[in-house]
Amino acid sequence: MLRYLCGVDIGATNITVSIADINGFRSRVLQLTNRIGDELTVPKQVISLITICCERGGVDLSDIERIGISSAGPFRRIDGMIELESPNICGGLSGVEGRLPNDWRRIPLERYLEDRLPPLKIANDAVSGAKAERMFGAGKGVNNLVYVTWSTGIGTGAYVDGHLISGKNGNAPHGGHIHLLDGGARCGCGERGHLEGLSSGMAIGRSYGGGSTAEDVFRMYRRGDPEAVEIVHDAARHFGRGLASINALLDTELFMIGGSVFQNNADILLPLIKKEMEGSFSVLSDGVEIVPAVLGRYLGDIAGLSLVMDEDWIEAWAEKEPWVQGVETVIIE
Ligand SMILES: [Zn+2]
Repeated sequence: MLRYLCGVDIGATNITVSIADINGFRSRVLQLTNRIGDELTVPKQVISLITICCERGGVDLSDIERIGISSAGPFRRIDGMIELESPNICGGLSGVEGRLPNDWRRIPLERYLEDRLPPLKIANDAVSGAKAERMFGAGKGVNNLVYVTWSTGIGTGAYVDGHLISGKNGNAPHGGHIHLLDGGARCGCGERGHLEGLSSGMAIGRSYGGGSTAEDVFRMYRRGDPEAVEIVHDAARHFGRGLASINALLDTELFMIGGSVFQNNADILLPLIKKEMEGSFSVLSDGVEIVPAVLGRYLGDIAGLSLVMDEDWIEAWAEKEPWVQGVETVIIE
């Protein structure tokens, strides 16, 4: 009998759910993250998407063995249960008034879901991203590595000496909120001068103004717009400095970069951040590689699934690479 696992990716922009068996994906759905309503909006949306994804895959919810949830952080553990306190989802935490259409300060994700779903495991999206890329992607066999997601926000996850580091609340290392400057643009967390506030997709769009997104700015960059060029170069410089700071702490071998901002513009960004790393303290930075993550748009799904996969699955998936073929994704309105 086939066994099923479910992978959930909770981002500030989208929530993705996929159902998988040992041979690959069976069904996948995606919906914009609903940030309107009360603080149970997101957990309820996760349950509704899992239900829809099960229907589409012809799988009963009760036949799902385990669910792995990869989520934007940071987290806080309350009585052992993970709550989300993400400034890109919870408007009550955001230092920028009115940036998000809610006043949530926390989302009791694990407490709400654990009574209503099969057994589940939750990890920070960059921590589980590091796990997935080391299992199947650019980090195979590397004992010291950092995965960085460069998207709406910026997150980091790391293996040190072959161990996935986690910390007391599962936030380690939360590189988006390292302090690079006095002043500068305000980060979603309310502080100024953080890596995320200077380089994230949200920051890049906001620097250009006029309601621009990061993608708009990169489009202008490619047309040679001087303001866009300056914004992108600044963002990349700060991002490279952020990597150098993380490397100074962790003495890593490999940075793997994913996330939509980077993946859509790696041709522009990779040379810029490599140059910044090369300009940092050479005893620490010599030989450190910076490469794109390879699991692409399925990274979030696989990050969730990687939290709950057994050895036999890992072997089968490493051989079949189901993310190459992919699966039809249904966008839920
Ligand atoms: Zn911050």
